[in-house]
Amino acid sequence: MTETDFESRIVAPEFTSLDTDIDKSLRPRTLIDYIGQDKVKENLDIYMKAARLRGESLDHCLLYGPPGLGKTTLAGIIANEMGVNLRVTSGPAIEKQGDLAALLTNLSEGDILFIDEIHRLSRSVEEVLYSAMEDFALDIIIGKGPSARSIRLDLPHFTLVGATTRSGQLTAPLRDRFGVLLRLELYTPEQLAGIIRRSAGILGVELDDDGALEIASRSRGTPRIANRLLKRVRDIAQVEYDGCITEGVAQSALRRFEIDELGLDEFDRRMLSTIITTYNGGPVGLETLAAALGEEAITIEDVYEPYLMQIGYLSRTHRGRCVTKAAYEHLGIAYNDPAE
Ligand code: ADP
Repeated sequence: MTETDFESRIVAPEFTSLDTDIDKSLRPRTLIDYIGQDKVKENLDIYMKAARLRGESLDHCLLYGPPGLGKTTLAGIIANEMGVNLRVTSGPAIEKQGDLAALLTNLSEGDILFIDEIHRLSRSVEEVLYSAMEDFALDIIIGKGPSARSIRLDLPHFTLVGATTRSGQLTAPLRDRFGVLLRLELYTPEQLAGIIRRSAGILGVELDDDGALEIASRSRGTPRIANRLLKRVRDIAQVEYDGCITEGVAQSALRRFEIDELGLDEFDRRMLSTIITTYNGGPVGLETLAAALGEEAITIEDVYEPYLMQIGYLSRTHRGRCVTKAAYEHLGIAYNDPAE
């Protein structure tokens, strides 16, 4: 799949050109409006209250989980609830140590620095971050050769909020410097239906409960996809129906987008059927599978697999990926039990 295909994939959990500024208005601004992730919210609420009571900045937080689950949104909520500024950047955007130094020295006391894809920071930038996180100081080398000297710059007490889809790729020294580790889970259809009803209210879309649940159950546990499907279904509801999204309207719209009742699209089905027909149901190594599908291994791992595993269609074993009996049934392919 080319990058353009990926961009236009309607169930891509990544931020794509299909997501516009409207998304900003859909982002909850307070913990109360943030639906689901109850454990994360409960913990964060306590940590934020405690920090406010002590008049201190919040401990550095690491948010991890698949794309589109609300990591950036949570960073915004933390800043809002702590009454401080939010600076947003990402690992690949900070190329040099100087870029990070410029960001850090521009922060005010208590500010939140959000670094998305923090596992993609370069090693040299990461080293600057260690003393910044631990001692709120920057060590800067001035000059070169024998006359070089190091000076220490004090930084305001800021809070780093790091987000990553793969906490396993973080180096131990970086991970150890986060006081709070929060893992986001895929959402249940009921939680997603709540998010869809809230978004419909903001967008002024008419929608009934069954319509919301129908979109929710095809959103792969991901709020970003739920909001995107809502917008696309709204278009069809307005042009071809009376504007109200019912179960039937949602079903017919989603069928047209070739998204099945579980939220699987053409690529998911191709991936499952490739493992079944070419590799006899697995196990097949990730790299081999990626080559067969013409997709990057990292995309398969981060974007496609979490949901397929959650619904029990795919398992990761030490020998490779395996498709389960349920996936055969879903695709209508006869299953030969290897035990028989
Ligand atoms: P991530 O940073 O994890 O990729 P985002 O924070 O950008 O995800 O969230 C994607 C979209 O999903 C946002 O525009 C937001 O409107 C919506 N969203 C995410 N989590 C929630 C939630 N818990 N409640 C309501 N909307 C949410």
